[in-house]
Amino acid sequence: MNKSDSERIATELESKGYQSASKENEADLILVNMCSVRQSAVDRVFGLALKFNKLKTENPKLKTVLTGCILKQDKRKFRKIFDSIWSQRNYFNIIPEYKYKPTAYIPISNGCNNFCTYCVVPLTRGPLVCRSHQEILEEVKKAVVRGIKEIWLLGQNVNDYTSPMESAINFSQLLKLTNDVPGDFQVRFTSPNPKNFSDELIEVMAQSKRVAKYLHLPVQSGDNEILKKMNRPYTVEQYKDLIKKIREEIPDINLSTDVIVGFPGETEEQFGNTVKLFKRIKFNLAYIAKYSPRPGTAALRMKDNVPLEEKKRREKILREIVVKK
Ligand code: SF4
Repeated sequence: MNKSDSERIATELESKGYQSASKENEADLILVNMCSVRQSAVDRVFGLALKFNKLKTENPKLKTVLTGCILKQDKRKFRKIFDSIWSQRNYFNIIPEYKYKPTAYIPISNGCNNFCTYCVVPLTRGPLVCRSHQEILEEVKKAVVRGIKEIWLLGQNVNDYTSPMESAINFSQLLKLTNDVPGDFQVRFTSPNPKNFSDELIEVMAQSKRVAKYLHLPVQSGDNEILKKMNRPYTVEQYKDLIKKIREEIPDINLSTDVIVGFPGETEEQFGNTVKLFKRIKFNLAYIAKYSPRPGTAALRMKDNVPLEEKKRREKILREIVVKK
């Protein structure tokens, strides 16, 4: 999503006459598109700001801009070290130059209404806004004509998609319509939420020849109590049934997931349930995050009582299971 936003911002700047510089010290404008999902990313932006402010002594014309997902409480601090802050917004109407050729990242929605208790996205990107299916399909067609071979349909939770033009068009239908665009390309999407992953979507994935045999399905935890505390409205049993169904319909599917270790109150036994799930599912890939408290989220009120060393240990255990698969 950040890559998609960045290339759209770059296209907008180019339309205003800017050209990209090859080095930071040759630039008159430096724009940082930040992410607040983890504290480490926020800290990195503070480090970058210091570096850029040093560059200003060599180039007094240099302006620095911060945009992207910024928490309210961080905005005040960043205002003091960046020349300006641009609010995060929808870049749906900008067709970019696709800097990541042969891949095009195409947003279908922005924002999220789910409020998982650890996540800042609903606070930084705001409520869910869906792009019309006609506009998405137009962009897909243009991208294919420009030689794009891989299309990623992007949304914080793609399953929540409903076309504002025609409410009957849900994500499964959008995927089917994308598959039907003529050309030589593959379609991927990210991320769906297990809570509303429909049979219809499995059927479309199984029957559409342009849809890649790959699925990223974030589980976040293998323990029902922790899932409840995370406000993830599905159980481990439902997740396992869903994977079973998907594998029956698409036997050669590659599966990846997101998981958080050391969520507040996660006991050894609860972590053990995640280990069991990982051994059972045998994911091809997993993005493993050590829980970090984020301002403004509901989980901030829960005690972050799993020590960092223990989070690292749990992360390593899961990583080894995925590698050994
Ligand atoms: S569904 Fe995804 S983006 Fe939305 S709140 Fe949950 S983790 Fe965050």
